[in-house]
Amino acid sequence: MKVLQERIRQDGLILSDTVLKVDSFLNHQVDTQLALEIGQEFARIFAGRPVTKVLTIEASGIQFAMAAGIALGVPFLYAKKKKAVTLSEQVYSAPVHSFTRQETYQVSLSQKYLGPGDKVIIVDDFLATGAALLGLVDIVEQAGAELVGVGCVIEKSFQEGRGLLEQRGVRVHSLARISSMSPGEINFIEDEPS
Ligand code: 5GP
Repeated sequence: MKVLQERIRQDGLILSDTVLKVDSFLNHQVDTQLALEIGQEFARIFAGRPVTKVLTIEASGIQFAMAAGIALGVPFLYAKKKKAVTLSEQVYSAPVHSFTRQETYQVSLSQKYLGPGDKVIIVDDFLATGAALLGLVDIVEQAGAELVGVGCVIEKSFQEGRGLLEQRGVRVHSLARISSMSPGEINFIEDEPS
């Protein structure tokens, strides 16, 4: 997605060879128009395949899952990182190891909102090691729902996430794929045909 690549070049801060900061427009302050365009792009990529729900994980995937849900005309769901006291019903849950925080947490989703018969796309802001998305894939499997595919806003293709998801038979579509980066330089893999 050209407009996204250009924005990353313009406003992204490359903190190291592995960490990209995009919190001025994607995941802290959010450019709402860009978020809506990202949702429309996901809807275009998955057009023609029946989708009943969009699933993400709190917090930074929410704006893109909502935008995709609006564009597809379906609800979106977000898995919670902490089990809220109000989440008293049965939940699906999966462990996720965060390499940035060096901790493992459980993500959970009420069984009321996902089940057999659902056709799901999973959306998130970043694909790095794949741990967060693999946790969501687990939840879709526990629900007996069909996983249509995964959509990521930014993929760091030099990390192992895509490979791990593809090994599980998951189709991955990323809007900006970074092949390499270092402070002052960023290289993208050109858009995959979809
Ligand atoms: P994972 O390693 O599980 O694929 O990535 C987990 C989460 O870590 C992503 O959803 C994203 O929120 C965060 N993350 C991973 N790499 C980066 C990065 O380079 N920059 C930012 N801002 N977040 C990242």
